[in-house]
Amino acid sequence: MSLKKVKEAKSGGWFRPLDLIIYAAIAVVAAAIFCAFFFAGGGGGFDGVRVSVDGQTVYEYTFSAGGSNLSPQTVEEEESGALVLIKVQTPWGYNVVCVDREKRSVKITEADCKGGDCKLPEISGGGTVIYCSPHRLTVTPITSSASPEVPIG
Ligand SMILES: [Zn+2]
Repeated sequence: MSLKKVKEAKSGGWFRPLDLIIYAAIAVVAAAIFCAFFFAGGGGGFDGVRVSVDGQTVYEYTFSAGGSNLSPQTVEEEESGALVLIKVQTPWGYNVVCVDREKRSVKITEADCKGGDCKLPEISGGGTVIYCSPHRLTVTPITSSASPEVPIG
């Protein structure tokens, strides 16, 4: 008696072919939406970078408009071919931020901080923020939508 009930439950239940097709369709749509968001949020909207020291924006670079030096006593800008070298003198040390206009990427190439971890990341999309904590320096991507939150730590 009880065995028969189990069999009935199985045959009348969950995985009919039509259900499987609906689940598959939902999975495909969900994956498509995820990809659309992922690619829109990554590289697509990356226009340039904003450099700030101790919470103050000292320099901005956009690929469309070029550099704008908001603090000439802190920042020295130098163009060399496809590269723009931005030397930032903070009260705690210096960093050289290198913008590659051909590759559309930004990274710190020189710094006199301990460890030099800020030289590792490279910004080539909207998702990366470079932070040099000994020098309180951040390099954040400027995106065509709202700029991302900067973690101050
Ligand atoms: Zn550093």
